[in-house]
Amino acid sequence: MKVMKFGGTSVGSVESLRNLRDIVNSESRPVLVVVSAMGGFTNQLLAMCEQAQQRDISCLETLEAARKRHHDAVDGVVVESMREQVHATIDRFIDESLKPYYLALATNPHMPADEIERVCDAIVAHGEILSSAIVTGMFEDGVPHLSLNYMRTVPDGSGRVLDWEETGRLVEADFASLSEGGVHVAQGFISRDKVSGAVTNLGRGGSDYTAAILATLLDAESLEIWTDVDGFMTADPRTHPDATVIPQMTYAQAQQMCDAGAKVIYPPTIAPVAMKHIPVWVKNTFNPAATGTVILDS
Ligand code: ADP
Ligand code: ASP
Ligand code: MG
Repeated sequence: MKVMKFGGTSVGSVESLRNLRDIVNSESRPVLVVVSAMGGFTNQLLAMCEQAQQRDISCLETLEAARKRHHDAVDGVVVESMREQVHATIDRFIDESLKPYYLALATNPHMPADEIERVCDAIVAHGEILSSAIVTGMFEDGVPHLSLNYMRTVPDGSGRVLDWEETGRLVEADFASLSEGGVHVAQGFISRDKVSGAVTNLGRGGSDYTAAILATLLDAESLEIWTDVDGFMTADPRTHPDATVIPQMTYAQAQQMCDAGAKVIYPPTIAPVAMKHIPVWVKNTFNPAATGTVILDS
């Protein structure tokens, strides 16, 4: 079984979602697809948190634009028999969850700082929750998973780390039906605190890490990181137009470049897959014919 992670640009438009569908449909089943939020939406959700805290209700207009963007994607890619249900899911999360959270931030000037943090963490999880509803609905054999049900974090200094033991136990139970086939779809990035159950996350760019964790725990044959460039390159092509694709790298080389700031893979992603010798491919959703990069032991 392969784990295929699609980043924000790869799920950000009808055109890219259609590419995703073709790429996944060329795979045998079962397959596990891990998705990010639609491109730019995580930033928007967080910017709206700031606006709401300033009592700036115009954040609700941005939310309506985001609602339309998600509904347009449903109309463009979701199988007809599932459309009504996915439209309703999107409206339910926006009206019964996101809106009340933003209004609570905007109307409660005395909300304690830890409560604000808890609300904003719950808000930002909705990017992946909404995109995954769309992606699941694109496949007749789509099987939804909810990463809040099995990804568990614990505090570590000023940040948070994965609780591998608890996550492993919960992942094993949640993915028990994997061998029966289908396109299994899970959210990247999002998690819960092991003790309090509060919604947490693995940090910005953390969907790569979710995919690596699931690949490791489920003994995947490979991990594919589908993004918007032709592979892991000698430098960021946005700032270095002469950068070229590196066809093959070792885990150590990839780790070094990620630690030095190569944004194409979130740094914690490499270690777990390296431990299990799972090959990692970096591929372009917008140019799937390009070979990409493979990351291996040697
Ligand atoms: P995704 O949303 O798919 O996770 P990201 O924006 O996180 O995508 O990562 C892909 C981006 O990483 C590319 O568009 C590119 O600008 C940037 N990048 C930085 N360094 C590198 C590198 N060495 N090789 C490839 N891409 C890089
Ligand atoms: N959506 C999250 C972010 O923008 C996680 C991810 O895309 O990997 O940081
Ligand atoms: Mg990324």
